[in-house]
This record gives sequence, C-alpha cells and structure tokens, in this order.
Amino acid sequence: MTQFSDLGLAKPLLKALAEKGYKEPTPIQAQAIPVVLQGKDLLGIAQTGTGKTAAFALPILQRLAEDRKPAPRRGFRCLVLSPTRELATQIAENFKAYAVHMGLSVHTIYGGVKYGPQMKALAGGIDVLVATPGRLMDHMAEKSATVSGTEIFVLDEADQMLDLGFVVPIRKIAAQLTKNRQNLFFSATMPSEIGKLAGELLKDPVQVSVAPQATTVERIDQRVLFIEAQRKRPLLAELFADSSFSRTIVFTRTKRGADRVAKYLNAAGVEAASIHGDKTQGQRERALAAFKAGEMRALVATDIAARGIDVNDVSHVINYELPNVPEAYVHRIGRTARKGKDGIAISFCADDERSLLKDIQKATRQTIPSFDRRNDKQLAAAAAVADKLVPADRHVDPRKADPRNDVPSELRRKRNRNRSGGQAAQGQNQGRGQAKKAAPAQNQFRGPKRQAAPAAKSWTPLD
Ligand code: AMP
Repeated sequence: MTQFSDLGLAKPLLKALAEKGYKEPTPIQAQAIPVVLQGKDLLGIAQTGTGKTAAFALPILQRLAEDRKPAPRRGFRCLVLSPTRELATQIAENFKAYAVHMGLSVHTIYGGVKYGPQMKALAGGIDVLVATPGRLMDHMAEKSATVSGTEIFVLDEADQMLDLGFVVPIRKIAAQLTKNRQNLFFSATMPSEIGKLAGELLKDPVQVSVAPQATTVERIDQRVLFIEAQRKRPLLAELFADSSFSRTIVFTRTKRGADRVAKYLNAAGVEAASIHGDKTQGQRERALAAFKAGEMRALVATDIAARGIDVNDVSHVINYELPNVPEAYVHRIGRTARKGKDGIAISFCADDERSLLKDIQKATRQTIPSFDRRNDKQLAAAAAVADKLVPADRHVDPRKADPRNDVPSELRRKRNRNRSGGQAAQGQNQGRGQAKKAAPAQNQFRGPKRQAAPAAKSWTPLD
C-alpha cells in the first residue's frame, strides 16, 4: 500500500498529515500528488468524499514552499475557484491544516460578506486564495485583486460551476492569467460543456479518475418508499421517531420546500434547520455548525447548498423529493457513507416522480428496493394533523418544476433583468448576467428531462 512518504511529500506536510490522523493516501491522492509535484496539468474526475482536496492542496503547498517568494501585491500565487462559499471555506480550512508547519498564507473571498476585510487581506498578497468566481470578478473590476501573477490555477467542482452559470466568468478570469501556469481541473462528471472548458484551460493534462460513482452507491443501503405526495410529511415524522436518525440530511428540490420541511419538522419536535441559496452566510454557517455539533438532528437542504459539504457521520440521507437529474441523486446519497463507512439513503417517491426514479435506476444501474406506503390510514390521519401544524405547500409536478428554483433569488432577478434589456448588473452579478446572455438557459442548468409525460402510463412497477 502506498504511503504518504512514498509520494515525495516534504516533512512539514507529513507531520501535518500525521497530526490529522491520515494514515494512507486515498486513490486520488496516490495518483494526483506525484503528477502535481512535477508541475504537470491535471484533469481529475472525482467527487467530494474521495479526498480530492488534499490531492491538490498537498502538492500545491509543497511547490509554493520549495520556491518561496513573496506573493504579488493584490495577487496570489495559487488561485482555487470554488462554486460555493461553503466549499470555499472547507477547501481553505484544509489548506490551512496542511500548511500549519509551513508559514504560507491562505484566505477566502466569497460573496454575501463585506468587501473591506477581503480588500485588506488581498492588499499585501496571499499565497493561496480560495474564491468564488463572482466576488473575485468584483475585486478584479475594483482593481483590489489581480490574477496576473497566479502560478497555479485550480478549478474545483467544475460541473457545478456550469450549473450555477459560472462558465463565462471562469473564462474571463482565465483570460487574464499568465499562460505559463499550472492548471488543475476537478469535476465529478464531464458534461460536454465542461469537457470543452477543460480543453481550453489545460495543457497536456494527466487524467486521473477515481471511484466510479457506482462504488459509492454500492456501499449505501438504499430504499424507496412509494407515498402520496401530500403524505410525505407524516412519513418523515414517522422516520424521525427512530432515534437512529441522529444526523440526517433531508433533500428538497426547492428553497421554499426546504424551509417548509424544516418548519414542519420543528413543529413536530425534531430540531431542524434549512440551508439554501437565499440564506445569509451567517445563517448557513450557524445551521451547519449546529448540525455538525449534533445539536440538530436534521439539516434540510437543496442540492446546490449541500453539494461539497463535508459533514462526518451523517446517519441518513432522505430524499424528500427526488432530484430532476440522476447525478444529483448520487451526490445527495454520497453525503452519507463517507470515509469508507456505510450509510442509509431513503427516497420518497410520489406517483408523479416515478419517471425520475426510473432515470436514477438506469443511470446507477441498480434496482433500489422499494416499499409501498400508499393507502396507509395512519399516515392519512397524521397528514391531516400535519396540515394543521404547518399548512401544506401547493404541489408542483416535478417534471414541470423549474430547476432554477434552487438558484439564489438575487441571481435570478439579475438574470431576468439582463434578459429584459435592463442595465447590465455590476460586479459579481455582471459576470453571472453575461453568462446568461452568452448561453441559452438550457445550457446553464440541467433542466427537467421531459415535459409532463403521463407518468402512470410510462411507469412499470418496480417492486
Ligand atoms: P474531500 O473529498 O477532499 O472533501 O475529503 C473528504 C474527507 O476525507 C475530508 O473530511 C478529509 O479531511 C478526509 N480525508 C482526505 N484525505 C484523507 C486521508 N488520506 N485519510 C483520511 N481522511 C482523509
């Protein structure tokens, strides 16, 4: 078995790894670290949970330390672009932990917080900057950041960048980078638009690919519960009556849905909070911290908010609503069964979600064991009580649901304004607005796959 010391990592890094309790490299680390240490470009196909952050952070820190020099003023020696604030924070925390014996500076830049402290941090130069594209573009426009001195450029979760409409901002940022740089590109999936972007950014990359999605899926005990849409809430409360649901992530398709489910759970006596794109940074951080600390049994999340979140020992994942794309199912259930542990994923499936279930089973090449909880009198009675606790939401056919419901409202408003010929938005929203102009909506989001097909006719029983 390969050891960290076999990979050519320097002593301060080996010491930090030992302190973190990492015993041996994960497959992506074993493959990627030597390549990055040699200064080569890398294309990594890997999802969160595989140890991909350390796969790029460790060799980057070593390269920066081997060639110590001051970071350029208002610039950074290494730039890591992350799609979300949560992931940016997590990546920076990893860098800091590994760099603890190296004296290199690590900072984050993302939206939703004040500019002042970020400008101050940027002024003197930073060794490693982890940023979301929108806020970095703001700083570049204000001349408080310059990317021209960047030696190593990392693009993380590229496929999610596409979902969020960040591809055009990324191209703009990359256009200002020096040609003589090292590029590392990570994505869990490789849709054609992302393959194209990788082709533009990378020079003769070494490709490493780990954990085909099915292997994560195989370790998870998955079940589907068929249930009437309006009885999902009492079914959820029934599950939480079991105390083994100690740290559970509940997924909904929309922000509003996440809020309602969290409200209902609290009313039913289960401590819960929701996280999604419309929550402030402070709200998201508090919810995550309480969940991580075990103060809350349930975190109700949308796909975008939850992706990349690294919480250990998630006991269960519940798909309160099935996602519109099978990849999202794999990402969701991958929140449990981390670090080689097992996990349980339970998916609620209403009649109008059966075509989504079929897509998921096809994509993951499996038949998920299913149980029929429809026509349950107890649940029917409990549903009436639930409606009194928190009035039920209007039911939206999942095949007609707009996947952009998961995109922060502010971003959507700006996009709409741009489309209607309004003034181009400034700063962070400028880049995003232009992303919208440059590509039609269907390129920005993985939309619902089909138009209101009669579900009952096309469905073949699975159980
Ligand atoms: P990532 O895929 O980078 O989000 O990492 C997933 C989790 O695995 C994080 O909590 C890391 O701290 C942890 N991790 C990364 N590399 C190792 C390793 N070699 N041994 C044990 N844990 C690791």
